[in-house]
Formats: sequence, structure tokens, C-alpha cells
Amino acid sequence: MEKHNCIIIGSGPAGYTAAIYAARANLKPVMYTGMEPGGQLTTTTDVENFPGYPEGIMGPEMMEDFKKQAERFGTEIRFGMVTKAELSSVPGEYHTLTIDEKDKIQAKTVIIATGASAKYLGLDSEKQFMGHGVSACAICDGFFYKGLEVVVVGGGDSAAEEATYLAKMCPKVTVLIRKDHWRASKIMENRVMNTPNIEVLFNTETLEVMGDKTVSGVRVKNNQTGEEKVIPAEGFFVAIGHKPNTGIFKGQLDMDDVGYIKTKPGTATTNLSGVFATGDAQDKIYRQAVTAAGSGCMGALEAERYLQEYEEKVESAQLS
Ligand code: NDP
Repeated sequence: MEKHNCIIIGSGPAGYTAAIYAARANLKPVMYTGMEPGGQLTTTTDVENFPGYPEGIMGPEMMEDFKKQAERFGTEIRFGMVTKAELSSVPGEYHTLTIDEKDKIQAKTVIIATGASAKYLGLDSEKQFMGHGVSACAICDGFFYKGLEVVVVGGGDSAAEEATYLAKMCPKVTVLIRKDHWRASKIMENRVMNTPNIEVLFNTETLEVMGDKTVSGVRVKNNQTGEEKVIPAEGFFVAIGHKPNTGIFKGQLDMDDVGYIKTKPGTATTNLSGVFATGDAQDKIYRQAVTAAGSGCMGALEAERYLQEYEEKVESAQLS
């Protein structure tokens, strides 16, 4: 079985930053990218709030830069999914990971940077039209709805961003917000509110995505008046937040109810020695590329320290 000092799971800003630091510390890290190399930022357009890019940068391009920087210092990047984790609770013992449901690999330290995935409403009709009018990524799929009317669900920054993006190519975008106010930041909210072809319906919930083979409309209900109506639309974009990708660690790592991994405050340390959690997998508050990158750095520095301390202990035991 392959044995490594450090395996990084995930290839978003947290994973790549951990890789840069771990590689520069000579840990010879191996990274498993997951099914979406580059993570969530590969499905976004302009990133304007990552320091160092005064003119902004496209998400996929930024992730390419992260990757090049991680590779420059010797990170081995492998396309693959960690499908099972057998984490040891004994300090210094190897952790075992299964890759793509077949190969097993071991590491003294594991840096988790698995991020989070889009949430859906859970309606049967939403499932029925998945990929045929229902999407959770306007940046990925918006192009297919050029010239068509669409609906976006959600009141956070994601919904605001998706609505603004879609409004550039669709004649009409209707945003459905279940509360009477946005959760999005004021700047994003204002951008939507000042876009003439976006209509925002507050207190509005989705009852059904309608259509035959593809989506043709959305049946909604005003949760204050009880009034129901059908909004004609050929695209239904769900932008209601994300779920941390931490299922494979369930029962082994301490987590909250939603699945965010608990870390010791101010650190990337989990309840198991040699296992560090970084990025959106452990952060439900900030969830920003820059905070993810910062926590990736913390994870790598802690992994380095852990390995050093462990090796020193082994060495002194051998001497005595
Ligand atoms: P959020 O959790 O911030 O917002 C989710 C939205 O979806 C809320 O309006 C919520 O409503 C609504 N919602 C949740 N569940 C349902 C449901 N079942 N039916 C209807 N509506 C529902 O998620 P986001 O993905 O928008 O943002 C996540 C984080 O990423 C935030 O910190 C955000 O700032 C950041 N972000 C930043 C961007 C940028 O700076 N460019 C772009 C995108 C995201 P309610 O308020 O009622 O719970």
C-alpha cells in the first residue's frame, strides 16, 4: 500500500493553499482533486474580492493559478475521489483512504478540504427536470437559456449573483425569496434591484416545477396571502446554499448537525490526531475563498508541526 506523509483531499482554495505550504515544507503532499477539480470557484465568473487581483479575475483562471503554484513546489495532483476514510484515533498511526472505491492509500496526516455542494429544494418535480431545465449553477448552464425566461430561487449572495449573471442573457429573470427580505449583502442586493429585467418576488415559495420533457413554468405561492400563480420559465436555478462534503468522515470526526467538521477554535485541528479540516468543510460562517485559503495554510502548518513532533518522539524513544 502506498504510504505518504500528507494527503490533501479537495482542490479548492483551501486544498491548494494547504498544498503550497505542505510542499514548501517538503512534506511531498499528494492531492486528490475530487470530481470538480478547482472546486466551487470554477463555476463562478468574476472574483473581485480575492486580494492580489486589483482588476478581479475569473474563478476558473484563479484556480488554474492556484494549481500551478501548488505544482511548482512539487505537489502531486491526482484526479480521483476519496470514497472511504478509515481514520485512526491512535496518534502517529497511519490513516487509510480508499480512492475511487478500489485503491487503498495511507497517510500520516490528512488535510480535509472537501468543500461544500449545492443544496436543492427537495421537490419531486425538481428532481424530474434535473439537467432538463433545473440547475444549481447559472455560470455552468446559463448559456443554454440564452433568450429564455428563467427563475432563480434564494435570497443569498449566490442567488443575487446568479440572477445578475442570467439577466445578461435572458430577457426576464424572476427571483423567488421565501422571506420578506434578502439575506445577500447590500451591494449584491442593490445590483439585482437595479437590473430592470429582474423581478423579485418576496414571501414566495416554490410548489412545483412544471413542464413536459423540459421546464415550462414554476408554480409558486405567496406565503402571506396564499395566492398561487404560474411563472412562465424554461430554466429553474436553485441557489439556496450548500452542504459540506463530509459524509465519508461521519461517525469518525466531530461535526455539527449540518455536517460541518468541528475544529478546535482558531486551529484546523479535529478530534483525531493527524487529521486537519480546512475551508468550507468546517466553515459555515465566512465561506469565502480567502478564508478557505487561510485555513488551508493553517492545516498545512499544523500537519507539518504534527509530523515533526511525532518524529521527534519516535527518535527519542529509539535513543532511550
Ligand atoms: P446563503 O445560505 O447565504 O443563502 C441561502 C438563501 O437561500 C437564503 O435566502 C435562504 O433563505 C434561501 N433558502 C434556503 N433554503 C431554502 C428553501 N428550502 N427554499 C427557499 N429558499 C431557501 O447561501 P449562499 O449560497 O447564497 O451564500 C453562501 C455564502 O457564500 C455566503 O457567505 C455568501 O456571502 C457567500 N457568497 C459570496 C459571493 C460573492 O461574494 N461573490 C457569491 C456567492 C456566495 P432564508 O434567508 O429564509 O434562510
